[in-house]
Amino acid sequence: MAVPKSKVTRSRRNNRRAHDALAAGSYHECPNCGELKRPHHVCAACGYYDGREVADAESL
Ligand SMILES: [Zn+2]
Repeated sequence: MAVPKSKVTRSRRNNRRAHDALAAGSYHECPNCGELKRPHHVCAACGYYDGREVADAESL
């Protein structure tokens, strides 16, 4: 097993973790019903995508 050669300091450890935060999800208003939906996904509230109904809203 590989063994660390020297201690990673609190500072260096925390600096490494500075980039570990999760980004917030991206949501945009549905042009059809105004509900928030994920970009490039069928709207879960009304079943619309690209200006037309492509899925049954109840089945989503
Ligand atoms: Zn919608």
